[in-house]
Amino acid sequence: MFGTGPTGSHSKDVEPMHALFIYPEFPKTFWSYEKILELVNRKVLLPPLGMVTVAALLPHEWEIKLVDRNVREVKAEEWAWAELVIISGMIVQKDDMAVQIARAKQRNLPVAVGGPFASSTPDAPELDLADFKILDEGEITLPMFIEALERGETGGRYSAEGDKPDVTATPIPRFDLLQLDAYDSMSVQFSRGCPFNCEFCDIIVLYGRKPRTKTPEQLVAELQSLYDLGWRRSVFLVDDNFIGNKRNAKLLLPEIRKFQEERGYPFSFSTEASVDLADDEEMMRMMHDARFEKVFLGIETPDEASLETARKVQNTRNPLDAAVDRITANGIGVMAGFIIGFDGERDGAGQRIVEFVTRTGIPAAMMGMLQALPKTALWARLEEEGRLIQGEDAAKGVNQTNLLNFKPTRPIRDIANEYVDAFCALYEPNAYMDRVYSYYLKMAAPRWKAAPKAPSWVDIRALAIVVWRQGIKRNTRGRFWRYMIGMARNNPAVLEQFLVMLAHNEHFIEYRSIVQREIREQVEALPPEEPTAQKELLPA
Ligand code: SF4
Repeated sequence: MFGTGPTGSHSKDVEPMHALFIYPEFPKTFWSYEKILELVNRKVLLPPLGMVTVAALLPHEWEIKLVDRNVREVKAEEWAWAELVIISGMIVQKDDMAVQIARAKQRNLPVAVGGPFASSTPDAPELDLADFKILDEGEITLPMFIEALERGETGGRYSAEGDKPDVTATPIPRFDLLQLDAYDSMSVQFSRGCPFNCEFCDIIVLYGRKPRTKTPEQLVAELQSLYDLGWRRSVFLVDDNFIGNKRNAKLLLPEIRKFQEERGYPFSFSTEASVDLADDEEMMRMMHDARFEKVFLGIETPDEASLETARKVQNTRNPLDAAVDRITANGIGVMAGFIIGFDGERDGAGQRIVEFVTRTGIPAAMMGMLQALPKTALWARLEEEGRLIQGEDAAKGVNQTNLLNFKPTRPIRDIANEYVDAFCALYEPNAYMDRVYSYYLKMAAPRWKAAPKAPSWVDIRALAIVVWRQGIKRNTRGRFWRYMIGMARNNPAVLEQFLVMLAHNEHFIEYRSIVQREIREQVEALPPEEPTAQKELLPA
């Protein structure tokens, strides 16, 4: 993210500015869930938390407008109003980032860029036209930028040179800048960094391996700010590993629970965590009691050799199926990420993922082909081995339809075909329904009691559409009603969650054909004899 820091409290001598924040558009991917968003009348899943955090860090006198391009276009009067344009984004947003920078420069506006893409590849051609590059975490680099403006400088690059800021001074993000009704979920951040050392991970490069957390009071104040703005739905804790610092997570959770109890459990939380969550009964209980309904686990693959190759050894300590079951039995729904294309991977990796997902029942299993991200240990190793596929698209970021950006140790076509087959098997509509049903039968009933809330028209409409499509129109109708009745009889407490997951089928049905088409097109465009990495690179 652009960053965070105490600059908001001291405005110094910079003339108050009109700063236009632009958050670039994401390409449509598996993660954008358009069909689900359409159902519930929202535009985007999550807000640009990094940008609203940066907004809170700038001098209070500055006037700020924020346009999330995933919600709407920048208006002519906003361009005319702006004196400075601030753009931040991730690798997958780089194309639109370049477009927005160019539009600002056509209007002779100074442009500052930051965020994960600028921090990892500040010399990327997409950023060439930007005047200021504010890299790394902003607690450190935003004050440098403000000081440069005070000196009248018109360009520069500010880097934290490896320093990691204390996040306990980070102010409450400016959630008021967001068009709240456009988002499905709000987000907050408790910690940055992760203690593990996965070879492909850029989080530990950006934020370090010593997790830094906010204080419980800080995070509760952020929740209160959302509550005061009228937010009453889901909140995603964007931490890459919420339990990276277990002690501090356990200090936070009772405070969230108290906040929730006093207000009738207005928020349902989700987050990301490492698989060792399953070893900590106390943590799972505390999360459930605070109403954490979902957790995303980076399982990556059930193949132990691949996990070791990827240095994801924490996933090899205990059986992964049992870990998923324990978390589910604690009333927390598991979502999981899977990767195919590791070095030394044996044929059939895709099928083994399908078997694992089917066995555990995980409804939302995200799959991608391994991507080397700039500055990661994987990138460095592949570069040294001469295996990166160089060129303008070397770093594409994780997207469900990107082929690997390096020469793998088995034919890329085999990996791509296995990937398409696995993806299509996982999201075949009947198989998906079977899995969701088996999963929610195992799910523990919630112990928290949310205040009763009348369903909105949007909810009723969404329900009617799902019932019409899955329960009447399609040939899934038999299963749909059998499973609805089965769930109502056997585990009625989770019926609503079950229905929501069934609704996700709307997205998967469409996305399945997109994945198939886009990957097949790329495979057809490959040179006839795509070389694989040298045999001697294969681990013993
Ligand atoms: S557990 Fe997740 S966040 Fe931590 S290093 Fe591994 S991939 Fe990165």
